[in-house]
Formats: sequence, C-alpha cells, structure tokens
Amino acid sequence: MGRRIPFYVLGMLMLVGILIGRAACGLLCPFGLVQDLLHKIPAPKIKVPLKIDRPARYLKYLILLVTVILLPLFAADQTGIAPPYFCKYICPAGTLEGGIPLLLTNESLRAAAGALFSWKLLVLLVIVLASVCIHRPFCRYLCPLGAFYALFQRFSFYQLHLDADKCIDCKKCEHSCPMAVEVTKNINSPECIRCGKCKAVCPTGAISSKRVRSKK
Ligand code: SF4
Ligand code: SF4
Repeated sequence: MGRRIPFYVLGMLMLVGILIGRAACGLLCPFGLVQDLLHKIPAPKIKVPLKIDRPARYLKYLILLVTVILLPLFAADQTGIAPPYFCKYICPAGTLEGGIPLLLTNESLRAAAGALFSWKLLVLLVIVLASVCIHRPFCRYLCPLGAFYALFQRFSFYQLHLDADKCIDCKKCEHSCPMAVEVTKNINSPECIRCGKCKAVCPTGAISSKRVRSKK
C-alpha cells in the first residue's frame, strides 16, 4: 500500500511558513514561551561557543529529515501509516503539555506508563535544565518544526530590514538577541525567531519590520 502523506498538515505548515516564517517560533509556540520563562530564572548563563553553536544548529534539520520525512516514508506499517517518530521518541513539548497532564489525571494511563515515558521525561528534564542556562536550546538545536519554518524564512512575507544609513554599529541588537543572530550582517537569518528584541533596543530605529521582502 502506498504511503499516506498528510498533505493538509503540510499545506497548513507551509502557509504559516510563507506568511510569517520563524515568527511562529518567536510569537506562537507555547514551548518557546516555556523556554523563555525558564531562562529568566536567576542562574549562570552559558554563551555557547560559535564553533559548537553553529554546527549544532544543523542538528534540527537532520532531525527533520530523519524523524519527520525519511522514517515515516520508509518505516510505515502495511496500512501506509507510520508512528509520529519525533513526537513519540523526542518531543519534550508533547511530554510537558500532553503526556504529563494526561498521566496526572488518568490512573490507568499512569499504571501503563513504561520505559518510553521515562525516556521522554528524561529528555524533557534535560531541555528544561538547559533552558535555564541557554536561551531556547530546543528551538536552536532540536526542533524540526523550527527547521521547517526556517526553510521559508527568506521568502516569507514577514521580513526585517536594517537601514545601514541609520545604524551606528553599537551592536546592542546583537547583544540582546536570544538566538545569537548576527543582526547587522544577516538580519533575516533562518535562526531569527522574530522576537523583536533587536528592534526594541536599537537606539537609532535602524531596524523595521516589513510585510514583504525588501529589495536591495
Ligand atoms: S532579537 Fe532580532 S534577530 Fe534576534 S531573534 Fe529576535 S527578532 Fe530575530
Ligand atoms: S542596535 Fe541598531 S544602531 Fe546598534 S548595531 Fe544594531 S541596528 Fe545598528
């Protein structure tokens, strides 16, 4: 039997990507908000060295390719339906927002929880602890949805623009960026989650938002 591709889900995600790109991560994702709140906890903060941070960011694209595309394509059952590999084995957002509340409210589910749920709890715990010290580690390194939206970032209707004539190169924007984007060099980087912090701190108003890509 042929593979069942969920075109309606794909279409919806593409629509969001085309309209707002990774603003979906910065403004809509509840697990992004959870990470932001965790990062406000007073604790030593870690700035991941660039030589580790930059290559590690490609991990989310690998996770997208393997767990969301290849495994469902080639490891589906006879009906053509594959388990949601990423959600089943990795996704900490599902554990926090779905799995834990379900188990807290359902005794029989609690009794049935086994090694897989323990593994998911461990993944969640690691992400929670990492979020206290590193800004949005799940968005930076692991989230396949973020990787998917990043593919649309340069083509989405929502773009940022940096006016070089107004910029005094103070770098306040880069120091405030939670995703360590080189704002003055690449303001529409696929890593930008459109949180607007750079725009808010810029002393000269050099950064603006646009609904379509600016022509250079
Ligand atoms: S601070 Fe600016 S460049 Fe950094 S993620 Fe937010 S909107 Fe993007
Ligand atoms: S904060 Fe504004 S003026 Fe300063 S470097 Fe960034 S864009 Fe330029």
